[in-house]
Formats: sequence, C-alpha cells, structure tokens
Amino acid sequence: MAKVMDKHEIESKTREYAERLRDQMGLQHRATTPFEKPFERPWTKAEIETTTVLFGGLTLAHEELTANAMRGMGYKIQALPVPDLEALQIGKEYGNRGQCNPTYFTVGSLVQYLKKLEAQGETDIEDRYVFVTAGSCGPCRFGMYEAEYRQALRDSGFGRFRVLIFQQAPETEQSTEDTALEFSAKFGLTLLRAFILGDMLNELGYKIRPYEVNKGDTDRVMAEAKELLGTALRESKSVFLGLRKVKKMFNSIEVDMTRVKPKVKITGEFWAQTTEGDGNYHMFRWLESEGAEVLVEPIGTWIEYKIWIARHHAEKEFATNKDKKSMIRKLKLAQIGFRMWHNFYRMALGFKTDPLPNQAKLAEYATAYYNTHLGGGEGHLEIGKNVMATKDKHAHMVISLKPFGCMPSTMSDGVQARVVADYKDAIFIPIETSGDGEVSARSRVQMKLYEAKKKARAEMDELLEARGVTIEQVQSYVGEHPKYANAMWKLPEHHGISSAANLVAEVAGRVK
Ligand code: SF4
Repeated sequence: MAKVMDKHEIESKTREYAERLRDQMGLQHRATTPFEKPFERPWTKAEIETTTVLFGGLTLAHEELTANAMRGMGYKIQALPVPDLEALQIGKEYGNRGQCNPTYFTVGSLVQYLKKLEAQGETDIEDRYVFVTAGSCGPCRFGMYEAEYRQALRDSGFGRFRVLIFQQAPETEQSTEDTALEFSAKFGLTLLRAFILGDMLNELGYKIRPYEVNKGDTDRVMAEAKELLGTALRESKSVFLGLRKVKKMFNSIEVDMTRVKPKVKITGEFWAQTTEGDGNYHMFRWLESEGAEVLVEPIGTWIEYKIWIARHHAEKEFATNKDKKSMIRKLKLAQIGFRMWHNFYRMALGFKTDPLPNQAKLAEYATAYYNTHLGGGEGHLEIGKNVMATKDKHAHMVISLKPFGCMPSTMSDGVQARVVADYKDAIFIPIETSGDGEVSARSRVQMKLYEAKKKARAEMDELLEARGVTIEQVQSYVGEHPKYANAMWKLPEHHGISSAANLVAEVAGRVK
C-alpha cells in the first residue's frame, strides 16, 4: 500500500521538484519568503485626536457625507482623492500580478496619497494616519484586498502603517478594549444613514442635470445640499428636516422635461459602477454629455442584497436546521426596517427618488439564468437588474461596468448572452474597464447609445401619434404651467420609459 505523505513531506517534495526544474532550465536558486500578515499596532482611544482616518472607494457625495458623519462621532477623517491612472500604475507597481483592477486603483491611491504627504514634508505619517476599509473572506478577490494593502504599504516604505478592516475587526488582533474605532451598532447605523443620503443626492443629480435649463444649476445645488446634510450629520441635527430643505433647494432649478433622452441603467461590479473617475472612464458624466439620462445604482441596493442573501441562505438551511428560525426572523425585520428608513427619507423629498428595487423580484428574474445562492461580487444582481430594466421598462439600455479581471462579473457576462437572446428588445453592453482603452470603450458604448436614442425617439413618436398631439403643443402647454418646470415635481409613471414620454402621457389629455 502506498505511504500517505503528510503536509511537510508534500511541501518538501514540491520544493525539491521546483529546484530540479530550475537546475534543468539553468535558472538560479532563490529563496522565497511568503508574505505573512504582520502583527499590527492597535489604534487606541488616546490617539483619536492626533490621528486622521483615511478612506475611499465611494462616490464623492457618499464620501463627503460619511466623513461628516464620522466627524460627528469625534474622528478626524479625510477621504482619499478619486483614484486616477497614476494610482492604477502605483497599484500595479506594488501589487501582486493577476489582481482585479479595483485592487490596483484603491491600493495605489492610498500609497500615492501617503507619498504625497511625505513629499510635502509630513512626518510621522505611520503614526498620524490610519486607513479604514471593508474586508471580506472572498469568495472573489475581494478577500485579497487586505493582504494587498499591507504588502504594498510595506514595499513602499510604510511598513508600520495601520489598516483597519471592518467586518473582520472583532476577530483580529487589531481589536482590543482600547480600540479607537469601535464597529458598534451606532457606528454601523451612522454609516448607513450617510450612505442612504449619498444615494439620494446622487439620484437627484443624475435625474435633474440632463434637463436643467441653466447649465451648472444642478451641480451648484448639489454642492449646497451636501454641505447642508453634512452639517446635519456632523452636528446630529434632524436629517429629515435637512432633506425637506434640500427639496426646496432643488426645486429652484428650472427644468425642461420635454427633452427626449434615453435612460441608461448602470450595473456591474460594485466599485466600477460606483467610482466617478478613471476607474470607469468617467462614464456617467460622459453619457450625460452624449445626451443620456443615467440611472446610477444606489449603494442601498447592495446593502439590502447583503441582508436578503443572508436570509436566502438561512432559509435554505432551515429545512435541516430549525435553529435558523430566529435568524430568519431577524433578517426579515432588518430588511423591512432598512426599506422603511429609505422610504422615510424619500418622503422628505416628495418621493422624487425611486424606491429600492424589490430583491425578491430581482432574484425571481435572475433565477432562470443564475444560481441565486452563488456569492461573490454582485451575485445574481447583474442578471436580475438587466432583466428588470428591460421587462419592467425601466431603461432603454443597460451598461454593465466591470473591472479588468473581475471573476463574478465575467461569469454574469457569459449568462447575459442568454438574457439578451431571450429579450430581443434589450440593449445591453458589458464594458471591461482596464484603465487604458478609454477611446475604444466609449466608441462601443456610443454605438449602443445610438440604438437607445432611436428607441426613445420612436417611443415618443408613437405616443404623440396615439395621443393626437405634437411636441410643440406639449411644450407650449408646459411653458404655461410652471409646475412642470420645477425640478422636484414628481413625474407620474404613465407610459414608455423616457421622462419626456411620461410627461407627454401626463399632459396630453389636457393639451387637447
Ligand atoms: S467583484 Fe470582481 S472586481 Fe470586485 S473584488 Fe471581486 S473579483 Fe475583484
């Protein structure tokens, strides 16, 4: 009977074999030292006043609001600049081969920032700054981010720099009773509040900007609204009342909703569909400049998905493990609570922003194509959103933005071919963002956008004919009724997909 080798024998034989191969190929012998997670100095409460927390990876609105919420909890905090191509290069220089590109962008962005501080003559950077980010055990390469940060920091000369990981913090040696950053319920709820508000401001911006009459109004009001809500978060004032004021501020923007624009839904990998810079070729602003109305994805959808998927797994296990009952109940309540909270803030904005998509429906739409128990990245969401956008007439076109080398999103792309075959009307384009290749990516999107524009125009022509009015009559009627020029007027969903088509359906009867 063959002898079973233990782990050490296997490792030693593997090493011997590698040495033999190197000999045969005439290569030099080399000693390799595998990277090991270093023991990290804790960040203690006594250091809160002298240390700045760095973070990043969200939209500008989310980052500004999150920073203010954290300041309200007594932290000094600074968002990193939006990662650019230089950050990507730095990330590649210090990172391992074969990572997906958000790793390179985000790791590079941190090293880039620290090097700039150093160049400006800052001292004691490793003591005076810490970096906080989300961690994960996978199943995709998200599980590698923590190690990549630590390795790149060590190799770029910041070996003592501290990286604080939430999700895993309570189990790691970073946590002690004296830890400065407590991942408590209060901390979590504060971040959630900032995320919901960031989602709402972004949605208002992308909904209103394409129709503003005076260019620049929306960006100006966005900046004022971020300031106002940021102050509310920092000073623990009522966010609901803050949102009421934000509604009035946006209402001062004059809009022309008769402009026919295709709606372009953004989906894809979390970071690629969130960042507002080189990481996705500045896709959202560029689409607007090309005449589209962009439907950005709220972070809230992903948060609710995380609750939903935990419940989904627990429900599967319930058949064999009745102890899961209370867990399922808690997760149901968490989901209901999160949606109620979201709707409460929508109410303050006169329901101008959309409700979160129904997770059960997304799963139902995706289930014919994708196993909803598969994790990693956005799981089945990319498929569900594409089907929903087409079947429920939410958008004329869907773009899936995914970073170079993203494993879960590439799997989804394979499946999307089948979705597009089943939904003949679907205009879908996957864009892999690699940092370079911007011109070719944009030109591919442009071709699909042309189809989407034609679709939006045809939809409008059919509607005008069916209702027996002309666009000039509608424009004249709208011009005489100022409420239709108010940016926060809630356009009822009537017919078709474009905002202009909904407006025509709303007023056509009265025009005649
Ligand atoms: S979802 Fe894709 S891009 Fe994001 S961490 Fe995972 S593998 Fe990387």
